[in-house]
Amino acid sequence: MPLVPCRACGHQVDTTALACPQCGATDPGKKISRQQRNAIFFAVQLVFWLALLGLGGWYVWNTAIPLARQYIVKPQPEPPPAQRP
Ligand SMILES: [Zn+2]
Repeated sequence: MPLVPCRACGHQVDTTALACPQCGATDPGKKISRQQRNAIFFAVQLVFWLALLGLGGWYVWNTAIPLARQYIVKPQPEPPPAQRP
């Protein structure tokens, strides 16, 4: 079992310890706290959903809208060639 210094008080604690026996800090062996981990998880989720939303929007813009235009907008007839006298 490796011992690491508590990130709060520096007391040697086990890496798997849930709380520091010296000062009571949570996850003393971890470099980041649970709150920070939750914040990072939230940020990753935010980026993931934004990317998904962006990809979905890009797909609709490039695929669905031109496809819909083909049905809505009829092709314009060719203008007649200029008459020569
Ligand atoms: Zn501590």
